[in-house]
Parts: sequence; C-alpha cells; structure tokens
Amino acid sequence: MTCPVIDLAQQLIKRPSVSPDDQGCQELLIQRLQNIGFTIERMPFGDTLNFWAYRGTGETFALAGHTDVVPAGDISQWQTAPFEPTLRDGMLYGRGAADMKGSLAAMVVAAERFVRAYPAHKGRLAFLITSDEEAKATNGTVQVVETLMSRHERLDYCLVGEPSSQQHLGDMIKNGRRGSLTANLTIFGTQGHVAYPQLADNPIHRSLPFLHDLVNTTWDNGNQFFPATSMQIANIQAGTGSNNIIPGKLWMQFNFRFSTELTDAEIRQQVEAMLKKHNLKYELDWWLSGQPFLTCKGALVDAVVDSVTHYCGRTPELSTGGGTSDGRFIARMGAQVVELGPINATIHKTNECVNVADLQALSLIYQRIMEQLIK
Ligand SMILES: [Zn+2]
Repeated sequence: MTCPVIDLAQQLIKRPSVSPDDQGCQELLIQRLQNIGFTIERMPFGDTLNFWAYRGTGETFALAGHTDVVPAGDISQWQTAPFEPTLRDGMLYGRGAADMKGSLAAMVVAAERFVRAYPAHKGRLAFLITSDEEAKATNGTVQVVETLMSRHERLDYCLVGEPSSQQHLGDMIKNGRRGSLTANLTIFGTQGHVAYPQLADNPIHRSLPFLHDLVNTTWDNGNQFFPATSMQIANIQAGTGSNNIIPGKLWMQFNFRFSTELTDAEIRQQVEAMLKKHNLKYELDWWLSGQPFLTCKGALVDAVVDSVTHYCGRTPELSTGGGTSDGRFIARMGAQVVELGPINATIHKTNECVNVADLQALSLIYQRIMEQLIK
C-alpha cells in the first residue's frame, strides 16, 4: 500500500540536497505541478535554485518551503543512512523528513487533490520554493520576493511549511517572528603598563557602566503576540593574555530579538545615545538579519485554525517564538503569513524523522486551507 505523500517525501529524501545544492528536488516538484496545470517560473540566483509556480488568477494563496537540508552530521549516529528514506514503527526516517521535505510532499499532494476537486478554483494557488533556507539564504526567498515585488505580484496569504508543531501535530502555529539585530562594538582606550595606569586608559573599566546600563534596560514590554524584546551579549573580548598590560580596546557583540513594539532604528538610536552618555570612544557596526512580522487575526489564521481543529481535534496555540524564518521576507509583500508543519523534535539532529500519519493529516489540513481561501 503506497501513499502519495509518503512516496513523494521518500523521493525527495533520496536526493542529498545539502544547501544550496538542490539535487533535482525542485524538478521533481515542478513536474508534478506542471502536470496539474501550473505555470512555472524558474528563478535561479547565484548558486541557489528557486521557483515560483502558480495556477489560476485573483486572490493568491502561496505555499512556501525549501528543498535544501542541513548536513547529516555524524553518520555513525544514524540507525539507517540519512539519505536512504526508511519506514520504521510508523515513522519516516531521513535527513529532511521533518525539515521540510515531508511538508513539501504534503503540499504538492494537497494541491493535486485540490485541483482535481476544484479545477476552476476562483483564486490563485502558488508555490514559492528555494534551495537555500538553511545556509546563507541570500540567493533564496529574499531574491524571489524582491523579483515578485518589483513587478507588483499579488500575494494575499502564505503558508510556510516549517515544522511548527511541538508535541502533537498542529499544537502550535507561528503567526509571526521576532526581529533579529546584531551589534559589533569596539570600545577604544589606550594601551599601557598596569603599573602606570595614569599613562593608559583601560577600555574594560570604561565599558563597565555602559554594560551595566545595557543589560539593565527594559527595551519594551512586548505585546499580546510578542514577548518583551531581549538583548543578549554573545561575545566579549579584551586583553592580551598578559597580566601586566592594560589593553587598548574591547570588542563585543550583542544581539537583540525584538518585538513589533520597537523598530531597529529605535534600538540603534537608544544604544548610541547610551554610548555617548558614557563618553566612550567607539566603532559600531549593525547587522539586521530580519524585521519582525506579525499576522493577526484574519482569513489565513482562521483557515489554519479551522483546518487544524477539524483534523487534529485541537486548537493550535499561536506563537511568535523561535528563530527567524523565510516568513520574514514573504511578509514584506504585505501577505498574511503563517507557519504550519510537523513536529520539530528531531530537526537538524541525527535520526531525523516524521510521523507517517501526521504527514498524511498535514496534507489534508493543507488541502482544507486551500479550500477555505480560494475554492
Ligand atoms: Zn526548515
């Protein structure tokens, strides 16, 4: 007895598509979508394959995901070969089974069933697929989104198939993500002999009042959807290793995970004002890796909650926790964005696996969401 979702997931897992090397995964998906009347636009950028596919016109619901996977890691820790999909005790094992080849298979099979049932659906069904989400992500979704935005392409709803579930399928969906902003800060002093401090200027000592302010600041209190913005110092370095030298500089790196209560510009201003207040000589570089986004109540959240409740018998918790995802780029198109996928307990680990029954249910959930939005 073969199941189309599991069969397609196995075909994808067999292709060792470690980022950004797609290994033919996208051609497999493209073939399936072409067979049911999708128009395909391949959008390669640099070393990364991407495609945009669509069927129908009007209000647009896109399914988004990635064909790339993280490396297998320590092969000796795998019970079966990572790129040899294996069914064992109701689970499908293999690198990418949960993140996110299982979701891709569930999406494509859902689209096939949806198109068969509603060949003249009233809205537009689309796919936005990349082969680099896990690594640099510079030639992936962000570039496709820029291309689509430059020609004013419409995108109303987007479902990202990232593994959002915790203990049970559908117990959690992501309706937003926090922003991520990193500061690389150098504070300058004057190097000298510890025995002659009057001839030197110790940047460690000078930094302490500033550091104290930095870690004791309440940036915001979060809101209904986001926890309070947090700042964490990730690295701090100063000193030559010698016990008799006052160092000439201190380098540190700190990262903000911020809510929609703040903008990255406000954070930058606040930090720079703090540095000035403490009269520090400094150099500061910022790296913004993602803006926060939030999809409040609306047609997409309603459709996802309804479909999960229908098939899983549980109401999903809406969460904005966790790291960043490609949802951050897609939200820039003004689309409502929600992430729903299988249980994430084994992602990026050895012996990555996904529950077979969950994957079949996920495909039915995706299909019901399509029906609710663009039937
Ligand atoms: Zn993923």
